[in-house]
Amino acid sequence: MSYGDDKFHDECGIFGVFRHPDSAAHTALGLHALQHRGQEAAGIVSFDGKHFNSHRGMGLVGDQFSSQDTMDRLKGHSAIGHNRYSTTGTTILRNVQPLFAEFDFGGLAMAHNGNLTNGLTLRRQLVKNGAIFHSTTDTEVINHLIANSPGIPMPQRVSSRHAPEVARIVDALSQVKGAYSMIALTNNFLLGARDPYGVRPLVLGNLDGSTILASETCALDIIGATFVRDIEPGEVVIIDDVGIQSLSPFAAEPSRFCIFEYVYFSRPDSIVEGVNVHEARRRIGIELAREHPVPGAHIVTPVPDSGTPGAIGFATEADVPFDIGIIRNHYVGRTFIEPAEHIRHLGVKLKHNANKATLAGKSVVLVDDSIVRGTTSVKIVEMVRSAGAAEVHMRIASPPTTHSCYYGVDTPDRDGLLAATRDVETMRQHIGVDSLAFLSMDGMYRAMGLTGRDNAQPQYCDACFSGDYAIQLTDHDDHALPSQLSLLAEQ
Ligand code: SF4
Repeated sequence: MSYGDDKFHDECGIFGVFRHPDSAAHTALGLHALQHRGQEAAGIVSFDGKHFNSHRGMGLVGDQFSSQDTMDRLKGHSAIGHNRYSTTGTTILRNVQPLFAEFDFGGLAMAHNGNLTNGLTLRRQLVKNGAIFHSTTDTEVINHLIANSPGIPMPQRVSSRHAPEVARIVDALSQVKGAYSMIALTNNFLLGARDPYGVRPLVLGNLDGSTILASETCALDIIGATFVRDIEPGEVVIIDDVGIQSLSPFAAEPSRFCIFEYVYFSRPDSIVEGVNVHEARRRIGIELAREHPVPGAHIVTPVPDSGTPGAIGFATEADVPFDIGIIRNHYVGRTFIEPAEHIRHLGVKLKHNANKATLAGKSVVLVDDSIVRGTTSVKIVEMVRSAGAAEVHMRIASPPTTHSCYYGVDTPDRDGLLAATRDVETMRQHIGVDSLAFLSMDGMYRAMGLTGRDNAQPQYCDACFSGDYAIQLTDHDDHALPSQLSLLAEQ
């Protein structure tokens, strides 16, 4: 149970190191920096030249990788790791990545961020043909496709030592649809890949001559690695003892990077696709203030922490003092035990509390990054009013989230999204504020340095705001597919 947490959740963070004496330790640090991308499980697989070594478990990175014994077992010059946010909440260790499989060419560990929109369809075909699955992850589908692949002719020459394996991995990836950034470690090379639309991020870094792959640049910063570049949409990189080879084996598609990475998912200190995330959020706040000013406001205060950069931008543009009206308790984990029924209403206060000294008697502009179900917004507004605020004007630093995400983000079904079935006035009444306004779609694109949304060819994925799904939703559209897979729960 998570209190005060009415957000979309990115499902994974990934990290990989090729040829560094401290590969597992650096991977643990990288995963720690990516903890915001998944808090329910973490895993590392290392390779020592002979053996693959693995440790995977439920909980935070610090829970899993703080013991010297564990780290000593993860020997090797190369390693990959994964943080997972599971949508089920069930303890299923077999779903924790990196997944490892033995192939005829050797071992392969894989960590994947995203969601395959034809994963269930492929899985059904594979099972019909005799495949046996141990997990419910998309990643295992890719493993089976690699196992069955004869390889495909590659458009570019690949180092002859790895050509057969790479051709099979590329063949597998050419069969999947959806959003993915993935890292794979074999006996001989580290591989990184992004789907042709480049929905989820993946960056290349360098540490003392060793190559690093990571979901975000904040994971490079923590180990002192330098940022080299983003992996391009549709690019596959092969990193081996000779160097880095870049392949573009897929048909080019228009880039559809997830704009929600800027709104909420990515860490503010990361540079994502060339843009600092904090700066993007601050500019979003500026656009919001231009579109929806609040005459007579006394203070601008964020719903912490994700509303903070937007509130700073709003306050600067509106020339209204910024102040901290809500305090967040950072020591509440996602797994805090649900209180007994008679004190459950106190739940939101475990995470947030209003500061009466800042709010009493004031006309308050309350800035949040997004509204998903609206449950937390209702409670936060109640709290701000109880602290004595004279007026509460809510400003949301993104357009209304009207659609679910099928590209690697945990979201409610459409009927669980407040904005899917209500107009702004109905939402205002539901949340209990004096006024409510959302950033427009064009305003969000302006904050990204564009003139507005190009409706014919949007530059980002914004499907959760627009319903414009660029990548085919094969599984979703096939109503004969089971909505859930069974899996034995294990401790
Ligand atoms: Fe990101 Fe697109 Fe998913 Fe929205 S629908 S969270 S913009 S990938």
